[in-house]
Amino acid sequence: MEQHKCIIIGSGPAGYTAAIYAARANLKPILYTGLLPGGQLTQTTEVENYPGYPKGIMGPEMMEDFRQQAERMGTDIRFGYVTDVDFSNPAKHHILTIDGSVQIAAEAVIIATGASAKWLGLPSEQRLNGSGVSACAVCDGFFYRGKEVIIVGGGDTACEEALYLAHLCPKVHMLVRSDKLRASQVMQARVKAAANIHIYWHTETVEVLGDNGVTGARVRNRLSGEEYDIPVYGFFVAIGHQPNTEVFKKYLAADHEGYLLTQADSTKTDIEGVFVCGDAQDKIYRQAVTAAGTGCMAALDAERYLSLKAFNANQ
Ligand code: NDP
Repeated sequence: MEQHKCIIIGSGPAGYTAAIYAARANLKPILYTGLLPGGQLTQTTEVENYPGYPKGIMGPEMMEDFRQQAERMGTDIRFGYVTDVDFSNPAKHHILTIDGSVQIAAEAVIIATGASAKWLGLPSEQRLNGSGVSACAVCDGFFYRGKEVIIVGGGDTACEEALYLAHLCPKVHMLVRSDKLRASQVMQARVKAAANIHIYWHTETVEVLGDNGVTGARVRNRLSGEEYDIPVYGFFVAIGHQPNTEVFKKYLAADHEGYLLTQADSTKTDIEGVFVCGDAQDKIYRQAVTAAGTGCMAALDAERYLSLKAFNANQ
């Protein structure tokens, strides 16, 4: 079995940033990309809020920059998906199974597996994804300024994104499938007070309309069964995220939604030598720049852990 100092799982901003720092600290990191090299940002269009790109940059291009930088620092980047972990012997090493077959060991593991947006599951939603359909208002809302948009969902994310969009768009149509918002009281109050957010209760999407771009949505009132069209240019889905953490949960504590828990002010988990960064542990901010920040923290935490371990071993 291959033995390494540090393995990073995931290739979004958190994983690549952890790799840059770990490589520069001479930890000779191995990074497994997962099934979607580059992560969620490879599925967005233009990124305008990542510092350092004054003219904006396409999401896939930015992630290619991250990848090249991590590689130039000496990261061994491998295409592969972690299907199992064994964190039962932290004093010795942690073992990862890649693609159900190969096993590899490391003293430190940095989990940066991110999260995936939940979708409604409509074929039209999938077809128009990236052409008017988005799961991130902060990423894509700017492209719809001055235009009407729909947002689906009634949780804190939907409310936060509806308010964000309401600053850019003349009207935000908010589709809520029940008769209540699930968001915190303060968010609910703000949404209800916004003059240009219209809430449609008991309403679900039948189909997103448009050929090459979104032109509207056909919706249904779940009580009356009535169907009608709402013309819009942007269709935002904010019905929650799913952290990609399933494989780790037999060893690591997670909250009820699956986000991995870390110790206060650090990326440490309750298992020595296992660190978590990015959206796998953050359900509040979920930005590329915050993920990159925690990726840096994870590499620094891993480096300190390995230094102390080596020091103690030499005593
Ligand atoms: P939530 O799970 O809280 O809410 C999801 C919303 O989407 C609900 O209104 C739900 O409706 C609706 N929904 C789910 N599936 C569908 C579907 N198929 N069709 C239509 N609507 C659907 O997710 P959030 O992302 O909003 O929040 C996740 C967690 O993160 C929460 O704990 C939240 O408090 C937290 N958060 C905190 C923030 C902050 O503090 N600033 C910001 C953002 C999130 P229903 O109620 O009927 O199930």
